Amino acid sequence: MKVLNLECANGHLFEGWFASEEDFHAQISRQLLTCPVCGELHVERRPSAPRLNLGAGRSDAPPPDRRRPDHPPAGPDGPTLMHPGPGGEPTREGLQAAWMQMVRRVLEQTEDVGPRFAEEARRIHHGDAPDRAIRGQASAEQAAELAEEGIEVLPLPIPDALKTPLQ
Ligand SMILES: [Zn+2]
Repeated sequence: MKVLNLECANGHLFEGWFASEEDFHAQISRQLLTCPVCGELHVERRPSAPRLNLGAGRSDAPPPDRRRPDHPPAGPDGPTLMHPGPGGEPTREGLQAAWMQMVRRVLEQTEDVGPRFAEEARRIHHGDAPDRAIRGQASAEQAAELAEEGIEVLPLPIPDALKTPLQ
């Protein structure tokens, strides 16, 4: 599974999930890949796949207030999660469910490297390890160091309900 950062000709940033590099190129060449914002067919890959920092307790960016699940966090370039209720309006339950589903998908499709996160992100960045989406824990200091080295890391607060083992 590859997670690629993509950008359309109009400058919209979004993420694409692909089975492989070949899958990405196949979708591009068959014009199956379009910008979710404007439908633009000219889509280009941005430099690196995201590394997901699941946090290690305290950080400078606290997780969202879980008492207000109607505002699921999404990065500035992240997907907008809308799950309309019966009346067409997004419901609190619907948004929470959509967020949980997205997080679960991320958990299923990334490799958990745990506390080796910063080290592994660095190895991937330098080509010393296979390029893939990983998740794990990094301190705020480690995340800042990675950012200084030009390695993109996404913070991803995990809902309590998903902290139990997946299987
Ligand atoms: Zn666009």
